[in-house]
Amino acid sequence: MGINIALDGPSGAGKSTIARKAAEKMNYIYVDTGALYRSIACYVIGKGIAPDSSEEIIPLLGEIDVKLEYKDGAQQVILNGENVSDKIRTPEISMGASKVSAIPEVREFLFGLQKNIAAENNIIMDGRDIGTVVLPNADVKIFLTASAEERANRRFKELQEKGDSSTYDDVLADIKQRDYNDTHRETAPLKKADDAVEIDSTNLTLDESISEVCRVIEENLKKKQTSDNSDGGEKKQSIKTREIAPVRPITKTHRLSHFRMFWYSILRAIVIGLYHLYYNITFEGTENIPKDGGNIFASNHRSYQDPVFIALPTRVPLSYMAKEELFHQNFAFTLVIKAFGAFPVTRGKGDTEVIDTSIEKLEKGRNLAIFPEGTRSKDGKVGKGKTGVALIAAIAQTKVVPVGINFEGRLKFRKKVVVRFGEPIIPSEIGVTSTNPKELKIIKNTIMDKIKELVHD
Ligand code: C5P
Repeated sequence: MGINIALDGPSGAGKSTIARKAAEKMNYIYVDTGALYRSIACYVIGKGIAPDSSEEIIPLLGEIDVKLEYKDGAQQVILNGENVSDKIRTPEISMGASKVSAIPEVREFLFGLQKNIAAENNIIMDGRDIGTVVLPNADVKIFLTASAEERANRRFKELQEKGDSSTYDDVLADIKQRDYNDTHRETAPLKKADDAVEIDSTNLTLDESISEVCRVIEENLKKKQTSDNSDGGEKKQSIKTREIAPVRPITKTHRLSHFRMFWYSILRAIVIGLYHLYYNITFEGTENIPKDGGNIFASNHRSYQDPVFIALPTRVPLSYMAKEELFHQNFAFTLVIKAFGAFPVTRGKGDTEVIDTSIEKLEKGRNLAIFPEGTRSKDGKVGKGKTGVALIAAIAQTKVVPVGINFEGRLKFRKKVVVRFGEPIIPSEIGVTSTNPKELKIIKNTIMDKIKELVHD
């Protein structure tokens, strides 16, 4: 894991120049995440599609491949094999990026790429949601601002030097519009993280801003190092106890009330009918589904409907983890997903709470659906999966039913969907009796291999 510095702030606050210089000084990699959103805007605008047309953009994501490469320390954005680093710097693409970035699926599409770069390198990453969403555990977080007028002034001068004919008023209106878009979108809006240090660069020169950012980074890294050293023993201990968490097999004596089960079975019958009308859906291996609750269903992740596909043939209500963002959408939607067993997880945040909630659900006699890959697979291939599922299974020592959800392309009316349930994996039967990292790996790999077997090409 590298050292991660998150630098957020509104458009034109000077983040990119400052982050680039600071990264150079510290010998870190500078990651400009705005360029990723710009490359998506570039692709859709190139296809003649409006950058706010989510219905047209979402299906196209599968054909977009964005990579970041570094040439002489400078970031290069490679879009489907083409270097678009210069092409994405026009005012049209700036506004387009601001619009595509409001589409949750676009943000999710770029999330993994940003996380991976940060996990492997020492980086300074600039953007709008780095300290709040992408790297909530960043070592240092800075929020860089400046007045809209000063930011417009700087951008106007830059554009004039490039021979661009935009007027100061155009640039100011643009900046204000992008500020509005960025702060008002529902998913990951621009806001200062609670633990970020705010720097206002309105009255600072570029050199002064760079010095101030470097000073804040150095000071905070030092502080962090000192506190890590002073509670080193304790910290190591807490990591150890988390890695080797105590096994506490769930008791299967808990049952959901007859009243709840009665209403659930009526509701389930209605939904099964509707799903059979809408999709050409079949369930295979249903004999592998335990009759009681308290089991984990580990599945590949293809669509937002996956929890329903798994719940339909299982008699006991299902709980499942859902991204925290989904709980901040509209009130009715939040109510529905909660009623259907969703509980929030914050990606990248400590997972102790999620594990406790999961165990609590299992203890109460509910089943738990887990998608070990974390994000949905666009092409149907099964990814490597994370060990969270293994940790929960190992602590609870409960059955894990592997599930393969199969359909081609996108889900739509009368689509053939096959949901396969495999034979349950029982941690103790494969020799996993503790939460030792080695044992977790065994169970995670067993689960992922079984899921792969249930997903047909
Ligand atoms: O930083 P830059 O101006 O290149 O970003 C282009 C656009 O991409 C921004 O206006 C913003 O809407 C979006 N963006 C974002 N989240 C990021 C980085 C950029 O929404 N992390």
